[in-house]
Parts: sequence; C-alpha cells; structure tokens
Amino acid sequence: MEKILVFGHKSPDTDSIAASIAMAYLQNKLGKAVEPRRLGNINKETEYVLNHFKIGAPELLSSVNEDNEVILVDHNEAAQCVDGIEKAHIRMVVDHHTMDFKASEPLYYYAEPVGCTCTVLYKLFNDNNVVIPADVAGLMLSAIISDTLLFKSPTCTEKDQKVAEDLAKIANVDINTYGLAMLKAGTDLSSFSEEELVNLDGKQFTLADKVKAKISQVNTADIDEVMARKGKIESAMNKDIDSLDLELNVFLITDIINSNSQVIVLGSKADIVEKAYSVTLEDNTAFLPGIVSRKKQVVPVLTANC
Ligand code: MN
Ligand code: MN
Repeated sequence: MEKILVFGHKSPDTDSIAASIAMAYLQNKLGKAVEPRRLGNINKETEYVLNHFKIGAPELLSSVNEDNEVILVDHNEAAQCVDGIEKAHIRMVVDHHTMDFKASEPLYYYAEPVGCTCTVLYKLFNDNNVVIPADVAGLMLSAIISDTLLFKSPTCTEKDQKVAEDLAKIANVDINTYGLAMLKAGTDLSSFSEEELVNLDGKQFTLADKVKAKISQVNTADIDEVMARKGKIESAMNKDIDSLDLELNVFLITDIINSNSQVIVLGSKADIVEKAYSVTLEDNTAFLPGIVSRKKQVVPVLTANC
C-alpha cells in the first residue's frame, strides 16, 4: 500500500504546514506510514518558522487519485482541497473550521471550535501518549501564534493559550519575542506580485450555498504600504473574477499590530459587504475597525447578508 499523505489547504498557511508535519510525526510514532505534503508555496512567515526550527518543507502535491489514502488537516471543504480529492480515500480529518464535508467511507473526524488545528493535534498527541519533540512543538506553537495573531484574534480560546504555553516550554522559546518576530517576518509583502498577493492566503467559498466568493487576506504592519498598490491588486482581483466566475471578491488587508482591516471589494455582489458592515465602499474600499478574523468576523457575517 502507498503511504498515506497528510496535507492542509491550498495557499497553505503556517497551521496547514505545521499540522501536516506534526500529524505525520504522530502517525509515524504510532506505526503508520504517513508523509506530509503541501498544496502550494511556503509563505514568508512559514519559511521563517521552518528555518528557525530547522525543519524542511513538505513536498508539493498537485493532485490525488483513487490510489491515494489521505488525511486532511486545517480544512475540510473540497474547494480548498487538492485536485482529485473526490476520488481519493479520506481516512481522517483534523480541523477547526465550519464543516462542508462529504465522505463516501467511514473515517476519523476530529474537530474542535478552537483557534488552531495544532491545538486539536496537541490533544491527539496526549491521548496517544506520544511525546512531542522540541522542533515539532516549535512548529505547533508557531501555528497557534499565526492563527490567533498572538492570542489577539477573536478565534483564540483559553485552550489555545494554554496549549501554546505548554508547547513554548517544550520548544524553549519566549512566546512574545518569538511570536512578534515570526508575525513580522510574514508581513514583508514587497517581493510579491499583486497576483501573488491575492493568492497568498486566498480561499474560495460558496456563501449561503449561492454566492460564489473568494476572500483573500494579507497581514501587514502598514496598511498604507499595501494600499499604495491598490490599482494593480484590483486588476489581479478582476482576473480572478473572470477565471473563477466569482460574484464577490474580497481582499482583506489586516493590520496585525492594531487589529483592524482595510478591505477592497469587487464583483457584482459587492453590496453584501456594505450591508454586512454598514459601510459604504468608496472607490471599492472601506475601513473595518476591529475586523481581523476571516473565519469568525467575515465568512459568517457575509453569509448572513447574502
Ligand atoms: Mn489555515
Ligand atoms: Mn488553522
């Protein structure tokens, strides 16, 4: 039998990469042949994390077929998954998102309403009495810091904070010093083209089962720096609207220091955003104070206004 492959979502973030590597490690310790994969380029934040803990990036995976057994982490929706997933055998899912999932075979499904997949994984390590080595603990800690924006995101729970503190001890890092350096490393967007910016952390959704949408997010310490590229960002977003047949294309520029977002909105259903946040888009953009979480403050709010 071929190895079981474990991977996170397309446009992988630190959680998708860290959870894949940690899950493969856990399964290997339990005697299963499991290997991590990634569905896209490593972002700058994740690159910083992998370098810091001296762990190599997983191999790129472009598609799967009926011969593949897979484990999904940090996602469950087919739209965010690898091409061909409908043919593969999904053995397990570990996730912390809303569920839009179908499987034709029995499987393990572990999900909790916490801030990060690695918080759920921490429990699986404990339940299986597998010791987490320092480097894997560092990766898992990084994922929690990334997903919760150093515990400031509304998605962060007490459990995430507690698990992060445990992992920081194992990894022997100071959470705040390391966390800020890591988040800062992820905000250097200068080397990316506008096409890359809208795909760094871009996810597709069918909101309320009807509105075809893409919601992308970049983290920054300086919103103005990103807004200076607005014209070219809009061109890249319009290309996506044509090629992906979108009705709504949302680009969130999130200030991780002050916890606000500037949003650029295009598409025939752009008024959903105006309604959802009681704002008027001027020149396709608006400021959304206090909005940092796509999962908690954007997707459900837009869905409710479709
Ligand atoms: Mn993720
Ligand atoms: Mn996550």
